[in-house]
Amino acid sequence: MNDPGLLPQATSVLAVCAHPDDESFGLGALLDAFHRAGAATAVLCFTAGEDSTLGGLGSAELRTTRQQELAAAARELAVGTVILRDHADGHLDDVPIDALARDVRSVGADVGADVLLVFDEGGITGHPDHCRATAAARRAGAEAGVPVLAWALPDRVARTLEDELGVPFVGRPDEDLAAAVVVDRTAQMRAIACHCTQVTGNPVVDRRLALQGDREHVRWLGPDRPDGGSRAGAATAARP
Ligand SMILES: [Zn+2]
Repeated sequence: MNDPGLLPQATSVLAVCAHPDDESFGLGALLDAFHRAGAATAVLCFTAGEDSTLGGLGSAELRTTRQQELAAAARELAVGTVILRDHADGHLDDVPIDALARDVRSVGADVGADVLLVFDEGGITGHPDHCRATAAARRAGAEAGVPVLAWALPDRVARTLEDELGVPFVGRPDEDLAAAVVVDRTAQMRAIACHCTQVTGNPVVDRRLALQGDREHVRWLGPDRPDGGSRAGAATAARP
């Protein structure tokens, strides 16, 4: 791992997510860090998360409620643009990857994104929708020449969560991680609290955040820079 503690440089970051809450539970601290470093931030979310088993609501009600939760969380994270699509929750694999990638490219161009921010390959939890959203961003990044930065879990965090809670997580060995960014989780915690239907009775997020502490690990998923350098080398100090 190189450049510990440093946030990759960006002027406009587009987070590409599968469900409302991914931008907060997963990417919230990084989105806040980019905002505080001076970057504009945006979120493209492919589904309304209407298939969640949490929250005790039917899918129609969940669709509306989770849309509102996403909007409130985005305000806490100072996300400037939020775009929510209505692909079927749990079925992103049924949507052609070209169509999803085209959407990422279009929104990315609209917001002038110079970094796409995603869940790591493997979707952190292995959720197929997470993997699909990341694949779409990788396709779009490769086509548009925009680097894709993945939020990743160190293996030790993933293994501990699996051992303690019996839920699957996909981690990475230290040598695969580009940086351990120092973050302040204050805004992320406020954003997480906005997702009322998803936080009640959900101990996994709290435990994961405790294990992660004040660090978020990231890795680059491409494309390679034109000069042939590795994306990991692009990590630079956060601006004041
Ligand atoms: Zn999700």
